[in-house]
Amino acid sequence: MLETLGNSLKDAVKKLSGKTVIDRAAVDELVRDLQRALLSADVNVKLVMQLSQSVKKRALEEEPPKGMGVRAHVLRIVYQELVRLMGRPGEVSLEPQTILMAGLQGSGKTTTTAKLARYFQRKGLRTGVICADTFRPGAYDQLKTLCDRISVPCFGKPGEPDALAIVREGLSAFRRQYEVIIIDTQGRHALEENLIEEIIQINEIAHPDHRWLVIDAALGQQASEQARRFHEAIGIDGVIVTKMDGTAKGGGALSAVAETRSGIVFIGSGETIEDLERFDPDGFISRLLGMGDLKAFVERAEEAVLNDEIDVNAMLKGKFTLRDMYKQLEALNRMGPLKQIMSMLPLGGMQIPDDAYDITSTKMQRYRVIMDSMTPSELDDPSIIGSSRVQRIARGAGVTPEDVRELIKYYKIMQRALKGMRGMDGGRFNMQRMMKKFGG
Ligand code: GDP
Repeated sequence: MLETLGNSLKDAVKKLSGKTVIDRAAVDELVRDLQRALLSADVNVKLVMQLSQSVKKRALEEEPPKGMGVRAHVLRIVYQELVRLMGRPGEVSLEPQTILMAGLQGSGKTTTTAKLARYFQRKGLRTGVICADTFRPGAYDQLKTLCDRISVPCFGKPGEPDALAIVREGLSAFRRQYEVIIIDTQGRHALEENLIEEIIQINEIAHPDHRWLVIDAALGQQASEQARRFHEAIGIDGVIVTKMDGTAKGGGALSAVAETRSGIVFIGSGETIEDLERFDPDGFISRLLGMGDLKAFVERAEEAVLNDEIDVNAMLKGKFTLRDMYKQLEALNRMGPLKQIMSMLPLGGMQIPDDAYDITSTKMQRYRVIMDSMTPSELDDPSIIGSSRVQRIARGAGVTPEDVRELIKYYKIMQRALKGMRGMDGGRFNMQRMMKKFGG
């Protein structure tokens, strides 16, 4: 899902770059690309339609915040709507709790049960696991083997056909001793009445704090149906998406989330017991869009617009004076290490050499002094500074002509970089080469 979707969206967003006003045709095109991308990632048609309608409406109706460019504005809307579609990540508390696992056979439920036990164990909670899968031969052995590896007790009774009895006994054996109890239930290849019946009864006996549904990321449109049935039966309050390491899709998970009105709690990202990650929608979507940590970028940019420190619009348009550059450098410095900021900008994964970030405060001070020796029109447009002026400015500032040229060179790099960011069509502009040139 990540790469496929990311690439199509990147193309779609590219079409907006360079635009200064939002026009209907551009938005229509973006929405069509967005739809195509989401559908090919197996996102449910109804959800896709909902999402694209809200994106379209908001893109056309909402005014971009002062100082924010059109592209940043539309990206922000796409981003926010995707976040809404995915739901908030489900809560995972570190309090004592009982968790009931639901899902079909093969979804990765047993493996995930052990992964979760490992997760809570690492958080310092005494954790025990109950195997209530009486349907699949070998289920207990599989879970026990996984649990033994991490020294987590696994309660089960191979040969006992009554899952309810196992759960009752398991809970009374574990409740005093363990803080987190995870109950693995049976799964079948298809949704069958007695499967649903049984999980309803287990739910009534165990009174779990959470009922998590395990969904295979490769599952397409059937995900909705599964999620709906389990949700109606026991009230799913979190979704775990497994096998995210092995699929280019994953849209089924979004359907499950929408169906249960819950959120994704964890992502399974491999076969070992450690391959479980907390779900982070911001990172997920930013990766999805292939554009760095977009949320953090937009937020910090918004913050800075509020403080009137940095003109995002100017930044994205590439129109700025030497004064603006200085102001921006100052603001960027205040916002955090430059490297961190650059990694958040939508540069499409461009590699930037480390020395390009090396703007120390000494350098900033030197730039300040040099700028104080310039005339207002030179500050507005440093390209008018000829070599004799370079000498004079250097003398006035008590620095070498090299230092002055460095500042002008840096300004030019920034200006072109910002223009390139707006263009974002790679071919015209190679930031890496430019930064290298600057670095030495
Ligand atoms: P269950 O029938 O739902 O209990 O499924 P299992 O836990 O037995 O898992 C089915 C298969 O999926 C096993 O081969 C697991 O190793 C594999 N599996 C589970 N989770 C993941 C995951 O996140 N990534 C990958 N690559 N494989 C997984």
